[in-house]
Amino acid sequence: MPGELTMDKLVSLCKRRGFVFQSSEVYGGIGGFWDYGPMGVQLKENIKRAWWKAVVQERPDVVGIDAAIVMNPRVWEASGHIDTFADPMVDCKGCKRRFRADELLEGKHEAESVHGRPIAEAKLGACPECGGELTAPRMFNLMFRTYVGPVEDDASVAYLRPETAQGIFVNFDNVLTSVRKKLPFGIAQVGKAFRNEITPGNFIFRDREFEQMEIEFFVHPGTDEEWHERWIEERFNWWLNLGIRKRKLELREHAAEELSHYSKRTVDIEYEFPFAGFAEIEGIANRTDFDLRRHAEYSGRELTYFDEEKGEHVVPYVIEPSAGVDRAFLTFLIDAYAEEEVRDETRVVLRLHRSLAPVQAAVLPLSRNERLVPPAQQVWELLRPHFMTQYDDAQSIGRRYRRQDEIGTPYCVTVDFDTLKDQDVTIRDRDSMEQARVPIANLIKLLGEKLQK
Ligand SMILES: [Zn+2]
Repeated sequence: MPGELTMDKLVSLCKRRGFVFQSSEVYGGIGGFWDYGPMGVQLKENIKRAWWKAVVQERPDVVGIDAAIVMNPRVWEASGHIDTFADPMVDCKGCKRRFRADELLEGKHEAESVHGRPIAEAKLGACPECGGELTAPRMFNLMFRTYVGPVEDDASVAYLRPETAQGIFVNFDNVLTSVRKKLPFGIAQVGKAFRNEITPGNFIFRDREFEQMEIEFFVHPGTDEEWHERWIEERFNWWLNLGIRKRKLELREHAAEELSHYSKRTVDIEYEFPFAGFAEIEGIANRTDFDLRRHAEYSGRELTYFDEEKGEHVVPYVIEPSAGVDRAFLTFLIDAYAEEEVRDETRVVLRLHRSLAPVQAAVLPLSRNERLVPPAQQVWELLRPHFMTQYDDAQSIGRRYRRQDEIGTPYCVTVDFDTLKDQDVTIRDRDSMEQARVPIANLIKLLGEKLQK
């Protein structure tokens, strides 16, 4: 029987096939940072593009921005991150290891919800590594600090942004006046964010450097609850439409005591990970008017919307769907992974959605025969402007199909001796493994149609 997917198998596949490498591996790596290889960067791009298409391109009411990672530090005072973006940590007096206090408590959901909330030290117990005594919990701010300019003093302190959202809030007025949107409307952004997690882990599940896909959707106060519902449904369907199995997804309502300081209501979309059970892959929060009011207060600028019908200024409420690209990457990989018995051997196949697969079509000559290589190269050249492709003529055709299955390539195009006579090639389908002969002249059109489905 084919085996279950373990974290070791996944990490090994990601390294072997060029999806994810440990950052600066030749120096022993660095905790919580990962590099994306040739397949990984493409999968990541495809995820971001699918998101952008769904939330910006196809919608009449959302526009995009790309704000700087380093912002005026007043932003983080206003947002509350300087005061409250902290996790309680404890040190072991024996082995000196450091832990997130909440992670030593039972229950994952409790663990996800502690920002700013004190944890009773009595419940913590002993060091899970060595059994040693733990210090009392201390709050540890998760923002990375740096200095802007040549002088390292208090006046030059700045932070790597811990979320992309604030870049949207502080540009609210710029966007409003430059594109003249009417409420309700949204601003979307994809970009890097940084959190100095005390204990990063589970591969790319919790990174210190990661990428976010966030929308701040501004609505009239009073319509926020309805819009919240609409976005929960919209975002849940996005995951389904990209092939995630429904039985692996769940919506989870945050309990009152785990809500962030800015949130009226938050619902998480969770995925059932083989190593962590159900865990958040996207959060959809009702951030109320908290952020716009705070930035207005701290900056002295008016951040309101003028309602022409009512003739009054309003501070919009905000619905925020927020997902992590890296965690989405992990989710799509895990959900696509399958092992099957095919003719007495185990086939590993990534059933990635066609729009996400890093390679869309692979061109494979049946062998390295000198009569087959030139026409196969010509077919490759023909396809390259239209699709992400790969050419492979090393080892047996069976081995090459397996390699393409393992990176999720939906179609393999094979050039054989019949091709020399009839100008037909074989298209092999990744999932059904069925093969069909098609004329080279129709190949671009046919692959285009298949990949659109
Ligand atoms: Zn210890």
